[in-house]
Amino acid sequence: MGNHMFDAIRAAAKPDARFVESPDGRCWSYSDMLGASARIAGALEKLSVRPGDRVAVQAEKSPEVLMLYIACLRAGAVYLPLNTAYTLAELDYFISDAEPRLVVVSPAARETVGELAGRYGAHVETLDASGSGSLMDLASDQPPDFTDAECGPDDLAAILYTSGTTGRSKGAMLTHDNLLSNALALRDYWRFTSEDRLIHALPIFHTHGLFVASNVVLLSGASMIFLPKFDADEVLRLLPRASVLMGVPTFYVRLVQHRELTRETVGRMRLFISGSAPLLAETHEAFRRRTGHAILERYGMTETNMNTSNPYDGERIADTVGFPLPGVELRVTEPETGVPLRDGETGMIEVRGPNVFKGYWRMPEKTEAEFRSDGFFITGDLGKIDERGYVHIVGRGKDLIISGGYNVYPKEIETEIDRLDGVVESAVIGIPHPDFGEGVAAVVVREKGSTLEERMILQGLRDRLARYKQPKAVVFVDELPRNAMGKVQKNVLRERYGKVLEAAFAA
Ligand code: ATP
Ligand code: MG
Repeated sequence: MGNHMFDAIRAAAKPDARFVESPDGRCWSYSDMLGASARIAGALEKLSVRPGDRVAVQAEKSPEVLMLYIACLRAGAVYLPLNTAYTLAELDYFISDAEPRLVVVSPAARETVGELAGRYGAHVETLDASGSGSLMDLASDQPPDFTDAECGPDDLAAILYTSGTTGRSKGAMLTHDNLLSNALALRDYWRFTSEDRLIHALPIFHTHGLFVASNVVLLSGASMIFLPKFDADEVLRLLPRASVLMGVPTFYVRLVQHRELTRETVGRMRLFISGSAPLLAETHEAFRRRTGHAILERYGMTETNMNTSNPYDGERIADTVGFPLPGVELRVTEPETGVPLRDGETGMIEVRGPNVFKGYWRMPEKTEAEFRSDGFFITGDLGKIDERGYVHIVGRGKDLIISGGYNVYPKEIETEIDRLDGVVESAVIGIPHPDFGEGVAAVVVREKGSTLEERMILQGLRDRLARYKQPKAVVFVDELPRNAMGKVQKNVLRERYGKVLEAAFAA
């Protein structure tokens, strides 16, 4: 049977070629990757990690963490990356839920997390950003080859917790084939070859940085430059040495604010990709004006890997996420009934294909509720397919506002507000309203020094939006709360400003 995912990685590996370099100048070739992952897999075996056991990892980004992920594939263990920002209380939930055999943390967290993990019967080892720690000590004593565990396409490769944007994070169970089929589809769609060098400035605990970025690089024998986090100066400095950048929209917002972004500085770059959150059309346009490159936007989620992508050769259209990837079926349905809608009509986005996860970890009812009987997964995202087949994401089902019986899609209102002079950005939310059930409310970030007032916003929208879509109250804030992937946290906004906005409705 072999090892479904790792056999493909091994087949793509070019021993002498460079695989990853870290900012401090350390480099790994593909043969270093094979040796390091074998040693770590040997260490996992020594620590009694057996196929199917979970290995939870909360560690600073480093090439070694990636080697640990690959080692888990080889050992048949289930890799479970955790956001480095999680507090001890949050870790308690993940560790009690996932019951890992091993928890890998930074040396500073050894004692606190060790005590917690001990309560759930897990063992703790350390790994730090410079690549040292107890796990690496143990690995260095192991041989550079390893007999890989037998893993079929349906065996679990990872559990990834969703970002928690709409509620408590859920563990998505991803199989070897979920990862492999999606990485191969992306590699071919985006024309990755061993000549490519990716600038990797994303976290590696999320599907974007771990699977989209790292798996695509691994399976094309390409290389990447790891940055601990996004830094516009640093990325601009690296552009002449790279060919692809994968980012979240905030990266591109920062880059277009940088005066050194020009056609010359983008050098030999062939592709700029954006995903994880909506890219504003104005960012897309500004980037194109400055560099001549149309950013390629794609759409995916923890549960499904990537679903769609704008075309490589065809027209990349702002405010769309392109076409379903080869092998992925996507349809739009009436949310309540699941009846398919016609092109152009807005409804629930559903997907089916080898990319779609096996279910939520230890949540069989939730899993069942999110699948239709014909196997389509209900994404929770609202959208439509236009006459040319491009998919548009309109927003999340949970953010849909029903005001006076009308459906209000926040994104439409946000786009209109963002157009007004003096506005940096906005978020539109639904707040309980005495007459309408829910009322439309706007949270707005003004430009520095702007004297924009609520009545000017309401005035500016009057001729552009139907009455039921117009905000009934506005609050101004310095910035919108975002999570690690740059997603606006609307539940935080509802919690923080709900009362003030409700009072404003009543006034
Ligand atoms: P949770 O499910 O815990 O609430 P989350 O949905 O934010 O969190 P992720 O799986 O990280 O967790 O994010 C997937 C979501 O991100 C998608 O369902 C979609 O709403 C959004 N998204 C991803 N790419 C895009 C894009 N290009 N445009 C708009 N939204 C996107
Ligand atoms: Mg989600």
